[in-house]
Amino acid sequence: MVISYPEFKARADAVRAQITAACARAGRNPEDVQILAVTKTHPAAAADYAARYGLRAVGENRVQEAVEKQPLCAEKIRWELIGHLQSNKAKLAAAHFDRVQSVDSAKLLKLLDRSAGELGKVLGVLLQINAGNDPAKFGAEPADAPLLLDAALACPHLRIDGFMTIAPLGATPAETAAHAVRTFENLRTIRDDLAATTGTPLRELSMGMSGDLEAAILAGSTQVRVGTALYGAR
Ligand SMILES: *Cc1c(COP(=O)(O)O)cnc(C)c1O
Repeated sequence: MVISYPEFKARADAVRAQITAACARAGRNPEDVQILAVTKTHPAAAADYAARYGLRAVGENRVQEAVEKQPLCAEKIRWELIGHLQSNKAKLAAAHFDRVQSVDSAKLLKLLDRSAGELGKVLGVLLQINAGNDPAKFGAEPADAPLLLDAALACPHLRIDGFMTIAPLGATPAETAAHAVRTFENLRTIRDDLAATTGTPLRELSMGMSGDLEAAILAGSTQVRVGTALYGAR
């Protein structure tokens, strides 16, 4: 990362403006859509920029990368894991993150719950759903979401905030855009159905990245995960 803080601020202002415009079209309050600054591959200063700008949290893909960066950060900010989590890293993830967004199995739930209990903390969790039915993506199958949620709600040391998804890429920009709409509307429907049947708010819908955040906001996203638009190409 070579950008300066003023450049970061200009980029973040532009992303905010994009969010505000999308919210206006959707008839939504822009304050209901948070930016998760995705700092993967960038130095610790990227997280400090996000904190200084007033963002609530940063997102990292790999546990080890976050563990190395955290002590180098001058500012306080929340850390969220957005990349695939291997079972053998669950304990480390529970210790170093405020929330894990990539939980897609009952096995991971059990490991994170036990680790959070040992740490005496309540760990935030989003269930990652493969709402675009992408064979190349992680995430629980939509049909398995009800059972996964039941398992999650039975974990005393986890706080289940909602769901996360990643839209599949298409062969063309138009196909990618269509996949995004389909994926985000599907996750919204899954959430609405499960919130109703379980009587749990499941408020958070983490969906949308630099390239598809408008479609995500129109479908109800409450958190867009933005890397490239804030920090430049990786
Ligand atoms: C890298 C990543 C992002 C950010 O993608 P950009 O296109 O750089 O905004 C968002 N979500 C996940 C899960 C990622 O791995």
